[in-house]
Amino acid sequence: MSGAFNDVRSLYLHIPFCERKCEYCDFTSVAGATGSAAYMDALNAEVRHLGERLGRLSLDTVFIGGGTPSLVEPELLAGLVATVRDTFSVAAGAEVTMEANPSSITAARARVWRAAGVNRISIGVQSLEADALRFLGRVHDAGRALAAIAEVRDAGFTSINCDLIYAVPGLGDTRWRRTLERVVAAGPTHISCYELTVEAGTPLHTRVRRGLVTPVEGARAMRQHRIAVDVLGGAGYAQYEVSNFAVTGEECRHNLVYWHNGYYAAAGVGAHGHLPAAAAAAIGLDVEAGAVSVRHWHGRGIAAYGRAVRAGEFPITGSEPVGPGMREQERVMLGLRLREGVRLDASSLDEARSLEGMGLLAVEGDRVRATARGEALLNQVTLRLVGDRAA
Ligand code: SF4
Repeated sequence: MSGAFNDVRSLYLHIPFCERKCEYCDFTSVAGATGSAAYMDALNAEVRHLGERLGRLSLDTVFIGGGTPSLVEPELLAGLVATVRDTFSVAAGAEVTMEANPSSITAARARVWRAAGVNRISIGVQSLEADALRFLGRVHDAGRALAAIAEVRDAGFTSINCDLIYAVPGLGDTRWRRTLERVVAAGPTHISCYELTVEAGTPLHTRVRRGLVTPVEGARAMRQHRIAVDVLGGAGYAQYEVSNFAVTGEECRHNLVYWHNGYYAAAGVGAHGHLPAAAAAAIGLDVEAGAVSVRHWHGRGIAAYGRAVRAGEFPITGSEPVGPGMREQERVMLGLRLREGVRLDASSLDEARSLEGMGLLAVEGDRVRATARGEALLNQVTLRLVGDRAA
């Protein structure tokens, strides 16, 4: 079966444990690491099960996200990477990323991750301002975040991302700029800057609903986004995606698979995958006639996940077939987030030129990309280009 699904070259794995739940968090995660050893057993089993059904995929990227993967015992993490290597063919030079939080990073733990074959680390710094960190419900302070960057570097990591959040109530432009400058000075190779969003069901959402917190208005959020573009651009980080900045050659290859509308297998509670139709059928998903691919997702309950894996099932609770039309819409929608832009077919180019006339797109031949103004109105621009199915 080896090589049966050559266009699936990426794998996402989810580890749902965190020290505590952050105020804004809508990810699949729980507070505490109780049950993490049993969970990791189940996750290893699901990876092996994927291998039985999909064959020995050749993987270019593996992304271990969460949650907080750095919170589980490093030996369990190393065991998971070993299972991936036993099950699939991890290419020489593959990117193997792991997410980590400052409070569960030490140089000793980082050395175990590195020795296991993790070669890129993504650290949830979020802010270096004490009140912003408190507001977000983070458990670390600025000193711990900066120390963590130094520790992973000492352990041999050269590809280091820092995640940051802007548009935090109370965080003015000057202090946002200061966080950016201090993170740049710490020398990561990649920086992601995300706007704080208020997701239903989070403690932050409750506080907003009760009138205890006023979200930052859109104009200020956009100004802070532009500050990030300016500060990071000036420091040599190219904005290769709306929210992502990297020094040359350090772009996240795994996330580029998403933005290029590529395929990826997935395992773990809450994990989302996207497989070509034949691969989706191989793991037992319903594939409608005419579907090119299938997006699918795992349930969010940890106990139910373990039970399903032990019963020999894939704990996938939902899926959506992708036909040729939707696939094209998704390709444009995701590609517009990239600095390199996206190629359009002739039928959309007239609309693109009219958006160019409004200063929202730059058109070069059959390739378009969003301008700074277009970036601020990306949903509307996408809608105009591909219709409301994708917006
Ligand atoms: S560390 Fe990340 S995944 Fe965990 S609760 Fe906070 S935001 Fe959510």
